Amino acid sequence: MKILLFGKNGQVGWELQRSLAPLGELTALDRAGADGLCGDLSDLDGLATTVRAVQPQVIVNAAAYTAVDKAESEPELAHRINAEAPAVLAREAQACGALLVHYSTDYVFDGSGDQPWAEGAPTGPLSVYGVTKLAGEQAIVQSGCAHLILRTSWVYAARGGNFAKTMLRLAQERERLTVIDDQWGAPTGAELIADVTAHAIAQTRQQPGKAGIYHLAPAGETTWHAYAKYVIAQASQAQPAIKIKATEIAPIPTSTYPTSARRPHNSRLNTHKLQTAFGLHLPPWQDGVRRMLAEIL
Ligand code: NDP
Repeated sequence: MKILLFGKNGQVGWELQRSLAPLGELTALDRAGADGLCGDLSDLDGLATTVRAVQPQVIVNAAAYTAVDKAESEPELAHRINAEAPAVLAREAQACGALLVHYSTDYVFDGSGDQPWAEGAPTGPLSVYGVTKLAGEQAIVQSGCAHLILRTSWVYAARGGNFAKTMLRLAQERERLTVIDDQWGAPTGAELIADVTAHAIAQTRQQPGKAGIYHLAPAGETTWHAYAKYVIAQASQAQPAIKIKATEIAPIPTSTYPTSARRPHNSRLNTHKLQTAFGLHLPPWQDGVRRMLAEIL
């Protein structure tokens, strides 16, 4: 089986290079491309030519415009990468009979209420990023290609920058931290996303009826504030040599921390469909965060 991966050096893309390798012959591209193949999602013709050249059985798109605030001032570029490029991949996947795996986000929802969102819940993105990610999903579904769209939330990885690392650094530099406590969700490890993706691909290749949209996040829920406290407590327990200066980690409401893009208050995702369809168990979010901390400390 030939697998074509875009975005190989992102948080999720990096882990996919590991988890997809045993499934088949993997061609993994970053923005720069390789061997005459185009990996730049803003080059729509280049993408189409690349899919036709590789003739993969599975296309995995881990590349995206993920700068949520910057997208507010670059809506066209965000739309090209998050909506038009997936549309091209979907068209080409349909043409060559490939399964297209794509990632989306809790930001397609408006964040109202306090119940975990199911896949069929009404969408209502609050930001340019959310609008473009939703448009990408819709283009894939409308193309008629076989697809797995995995909506996830609050992604972190040992490699690259992330919220947990920023909190650890700030806790060593400042005496007081303020962290938002009215946005709810689950921090999702890129490792978990990559491993679930590999299982889902293997099963969907055997049973094409499993294609569709799924929510993917670990078990449990938290706020950014509780997440920050957990990270700092775990880090100081695991590495007592770390000098935590922050004696206070204060909760603040979103309203006191203005950003260009609005973010949903309720990012909880209901993962029942994924667990049932693929027979998978999703561990508590703390497990992956502890593992990531053990790797980076
Ligand atoms: P990252 O930001 O870590 O990685 C995105 C990758 O896309 C980067 O490697 C980036 O390359 C690449 N990229 C950006 N523009 C282009 C382009 N024009 N052509 C080719 N590659 C490009 O994202 P994640 O791994 O965290 O996200 C994976 C998926 O999960 C995305 O679909 C995202 O929308 C979704 N998601 C992410 C969440 C999060 O909290 N991060 C939450 C929910 C969903 P470069 O480094 O060169 O810019």
